[in-house]
Amino acid sequence: MRLGGPAAYLAHVHNPEELAEGLAWAAVRSLPVIMIGGGSNIIWRDEGFSGLVLVNRIKGYSLEERGSEVYLTVGAGEDWDSVVERSVAAGACGIERLSLIPGTAGATPVQNVGAYGREIADVLVSVDAYDRLVGQFVRIPAGDCAFGYRRSRFNGADRGRFFITGLTLRLVREQPRPPFYPALDRYLAERGIARPTVQQVRDAVIAIRRAKLPDPERVANCGSFFRNPVIPAGQAAYLLARYPDMPHWAMPDGRVKLAAGWLIDRAGLRGVSDPETGMGTWPAQALVLVNERARSTADLLRFRQKVQDAVRERFGVDLEQEPELLP
Ligand SMILES: Cc1cc2nc3c(=O)[nH]c(=O)nc-3n(C[C@H](O)[C@H](O)[C@H](O)COP(=O)(O)OP(=O)(O)OC[C@H]3O[C@@H](n4cnc5c(N)ncnc54)[C@H](O)[C@@H]3O)c2cc1C
Repeated sequence: MRLGGPAAYLAHVHNPEELAEGLAWAAVRSLPVIMIGGGSNIIWRDEGFSGLVLVNRIKGYSLEERGSEVYLTVGAGEDWDSVVERSVAAGACGIERLSLIPGTAGATPVQNVGAYGREIADVLVSVDAYDRLVGQFVRIPAGDCAFGYRRSRFNGADRGRFFITGLTLRLVREQPRPPFYPALDRYLAERGIARPTVQQVRDAVIAIRRAKLPDPERVANCGSFFRNPVIPAGQAAYLLARYPDMPHWAMPDGRVKLAAGWLIDRAGLRGVSDPETGMGTWPAQALVLVNERARSTADLLRFRQKVQDAVRERFGVDLEQEPELLP
């Protein structure tokens, strides 16, 4: 979002030894430490951070074939989309729908990154990390990551405890099997592609995302600004009676997930520019808040409140922020 105050100290770490060194340096000075990847899902507070920011630059990429399965091990500091690009080029299927998501590989388990019906939890085998509570490097199996929709132990109960150094993913050497997700299926059907290759799925996802989302290099944004709200079935039935075209998905626990972007759009806030805060919403996707000329995180948070208030007033639904507000 290109907002927020400065950090007192910042260092890039390229291997686990440098990570341990950074932590020891901060411990001697009693400084708090935050690890980040690309910074694409963070809102920094205006006050800044009086500690040490460690930027993860730990590299590594290796594929191991075991029958029809392909085990992909990557360093946390690898650019995520280049990991997807390389694995797709190698013919491995599993993460092609997660194409063009900005940031690093190591951040993907933090909010259980997902798109077009695929989440990192679907393919993750294990996470390698430094456990700051016990002071050692550990391997965490995917089953111990407490994954949910945009959630994990890393942004939940154990927020800030683990500094992720690498991941292992299980991919397959198979052709992707549709159906995937309505927007993606529609795109492929319109082009007469019934059995797409892994590369064709990646290309389709990239084309759809480019048409819908702003490029963060050019327009300051964090992607989806709110999680899709999950509401009780009774409330969903009430809203559906009033808004029959409201997109909704039944969840395994009986609750119903709504599309936050649709709610914001119908609250009249798609493609708006707010003169008071300098913030706006993206014309092709109301869920993306963009910094047009805001001067501070306080401006952004005021605009966030306006969006939340408008949706609550119209639909009685609370929107929860997706990017992390740090520190
Ligand atoms: C245009 C755009 C589109 C997006 N689309 C999607 C999407 O489709 N689906 C989706 O899920 N997200 C999406 N995002 C959000 C974002 O890309 C992801 O959350 C991504 O994983 C963030 O990676 P990062 O390296 O930039 O993480 P950061 O922003 O640097 O960090 C995010 C959080 O993870 C923590 N963290 C980062 N790296 C580590 C590490 N190695 N160890 C421990 N903690 C760490 C940070 O402390 C912070 O709390 C989008 C963002 C943008 C700007």
